[in-house]
Amino acid sequence: MSDSKKNKLDELREKLFAKNETAFSEKYDITDADTFCEGYKAYLDIGKTERLCVKEAIRLAEAKGFVPYERGKALKAGDKIYRNNRGKSIILAVIGQKSMKCGINLAAAHIDSPRVDLKQSPLYESEGLCLFKTHYYGGVKKYQWPAIPLELHGVVALKSGEVVDVSIGNSPDDPVFVITDLLPHLGKDQMAKKATDVISAESMNILCGSRPIDGAKDSDSDAVKLNIMKILNEKYGIVEEDFLSAELSAVPAFSARDIGLDRSMIGAYGHDDRVCAYPSLRALLDLDTPDRTAVCILADKEEIGSEGVSGMKSHFFETFIEDICDTDNSLLRECFENSTCLSTDVMVAMDPNYPEVCEKKNTAFINRGITLCKYTGARGKSGSSDASCELIAKLRALFDDNGILWQMGSLGKVDQGGGGTVAMYMAERNIETIDAGVPVLSMHSPYETVAKADVYMTYKAILTFFEKNR
Ligand code: MN
Ligand code: MN
Repeated sequence: MSDSKKNKLDELREKLFAKNETAFSEKYDITDADTFCEGYKAYLDIGKTERLCVKEAIRLAEAKGFVPYERGKALKAGDKIYRNNRGKSIILAVIGQKSMKCGINLAAAHIDSPRVDLKQSPLYESEGLCLFKTHYYGGVKKYQWPAIPLELHGVVALKSGEVVDVSIGNSPDDPVFVITDLLPHLGKDQMAKKATDVISAESMNILCGSRPIDGAKDSDSDAVKLNIMKILNEKYGIVEEDFLSAELSAVPAFSARDIGLDRSMIGAYGHDDRVCAYPSLRALLDLDTPDRTAVCILADKEEIGSEGVSGMKSHFFETFIEDICDTDNSLLRECFENSTCLSTDVMVAMDPNYPEVCEKKNTAFINRGITLCKYTGARGKSGSSDASCELIAKLRALFDDNGILWQMGSLGKVDQGGGGTVAMYMAERNIETIDAGVPVLSMHSPYETVAKADVYMTYKAILTFFEKNR
């Protein structure tokens, strides 16, 4: 082939074929990615549960001038408001120039992550050891949870109305907890089981003590448990029955760390979905007065189906938006039909250790930016809201025109499995919605991995969306 003919074909290729760019192309500015991710790592280390994520979000928001919104109070463009939903989810808004009837730009992430919850009557003693009974929360591979250090976080609500915060294991001097595993020497029967049965849910009991109370005789029953209750009583003023009205969760006692010799990635517990919650929150906090009102919701209970008063199905969401609509006499239904939602949630990333579950041409890759996902679901897109191609076209233009690296992803090979996000619950409200978020390795494991460039690009994408989506 002659040189000129070859050049012609290259030109045609360049013009007609899709490109797979990475964040390291000169086209994209990721200078601030590392600094941004230091803030994210700090958020992860503080926000080990949804309650702790809400607390930290409030601290960050108030530092930027956000105030709790009281129903009926007048609002003007540029006002920064939030509402705390029972300490477990939070919604924040920056009021725009336009009326609420023109719709809002919304980023919806979730701040609950898979974990191991204590049962309502958890504490018992057996074989000289004291343990907590548990019930796992969300989609976990149970075999990943024994033999790793665990922290304990949550609250105990007392009959007096007082709510006591419990937090053990997050500071270097604290003790931690563990679920024990069987030694390989005696694991013959265990290792022959299916992975789903290797660890039974009722054997995920958390070790929390082994020393009997001072003065106990060998024959005394429950002397170790009595000692643990005494320690808890001295520290938190609680008695055993108070567990009945407690919400206590065990989470991995890992802090967020850089991964790789090049420090390009972050390993941590709870990237799903704090890796989208933090960029969504930060984008809202860094926003000047927008054209359309910008809203960020950090929801609870996504991992168990978005149920309950703090989940995305809750009317807490429309109650808040309607309160804002009331201030300029807009109708909620009019606001919703003109609104756009990015359901900011994580996406599976191509993993060279497990390439067989993904179809390469339609899978997200680490370091290729924020990932749009048209549909999730399973078996023929069932249980998915299937975003409109018109919305995708709009976002393609928005991101391409503003130096945002983005890619299209999907949830594995067809019929390989599936899943969902809050997208369908937003779409049901007549809000144009699409999933958009950070690709993750080892999703739902105690230690997930993301790339710093993707976290930063997700922040930039959401900020651009808040600023310019009309
Ligand atoms: Mn998620
Ligand atoms: Mn999840």
